[in-house]
Amino acid sequence: MLCLGIESTAHTFGVGIVDENCRVLSNKKAVYVPPSGGIVPREAFLHHTSKAPEVLLSSLKEAGIDIGDIDVFSFSRGPGLGPCLRAGAVLTRFLSLKTGKPIIGVNHCVAHIEIGKKLSGASDPVVLYVSGGNTQVLAFVDGRYRTFGETLDVGVGNALDMFARECGLQHPGGPKIERLAENGKYVKLPYTVKGMCLSFSGIITEALRLYRSGVRLEDLCFSLQETLFAMLTEVTERALAHTGKNEVLLTGGVAANKRLREMLRIMCEERGADFYTVPHEFAGDNGAMIAWTGILAFTSGISEKVEDTKINPRWRTDEVDITWIQPSTNL
Ligand code: AMP
Ligand code: MG
Repeated sequence: MLCLGIESTAHTFGVGIVDENCRVLSNKKAVYVPPSGGIVPREAFLHHTSKAPEVLLSSLKEAGIDIGDIDVFSFSRGPGLGPCLRAGAVLTRFLSLKTGKPIIGVNHCVAHIEIGKKLSGASDPVVLYVSGGNTQVLAFVDGRYRTFGETLDVGVGNALDMFARECGLQHPGGPKIERLAENGKYVKLPYTVKGMCLSFSGIITEALRLYRSGVRLEDLCFSLQETLFAMLTEVTERALAHTGKNEVLLTGGVAANKRLREMLRIMCEERGADFYTVPHEFAGDNGAMIAWTGILAFTSGISEKVEDTKINPRWRTDEVDITWIQPSTNL
């Protein structure tokens, strides 16, 4: 069985083709880079619609198949930016109608978790999902990925990108901050964990104030990583303790960061838990994760009518019934 998945929640327009064993036949993408400032939804929409034919065709070509060989189509229904989501949804509906094959709208955050689990070998982890727009600590309990903690403002990736942009670094900021941090030393920044939730925007404001007062950029990059990642590790550790689970999975675009991985690995070693990370290629937004989640949903019996595939820009991870995992009632 082959599923073609389309990702288009924010910057990335991606098309992936995956089989029922999660063999990835192709995973192509085009990424919208805002000229300055943050993402402009209308411009990202125009980017996605103009790149769609090229990305779709190159994905089919790499997989060595024809559109008629696809058994099911899936797309990111949400959460994300309305115009961007529409670009993917409209194309997927067209492909489904044209070929007469089923269509499934999947949750983007659940897709980050499922591709991470499948490709890393984690089975029942506490998940730290860190990307541009999202930051959540989740675990599967009783039929859903339940939220144990999350950001109260921006996602950690966006926080890093915002800081980088104001300091004249090119988008995406995360990798540039990681590189500069190698030559930095610690300066104190606020640390804002509230219960199980996190807040990043005040820390960025303070880091920018220090930058403008002359503190070295390398030191601020180092200190931002140490502070933000320690906050994430603290909440993940507490979720591990509360749930009694013995695995941690790091997934989402920020999972590419070596220092974050190191902190979580050390925490897991100290607690006797196993640590898993999504492979680098599948850390950021991509079509393959949408295709794999399409396979899981479809083979668990989900089917949708084209007219019921409306996008849902505010679709929360914990609103999705996970029909492909046996529910366990005990924590
Ligand atoms: P996503 O939204 O899942 O595609 O992830 C994109 C986010 O990941 C952006 O905010 C990037 O800045 C961030 N990111 C990518 N690579 C790294 C890295 N090495 N360190 C920190 N953040 C990163
Ligand atoms: Mg994402």
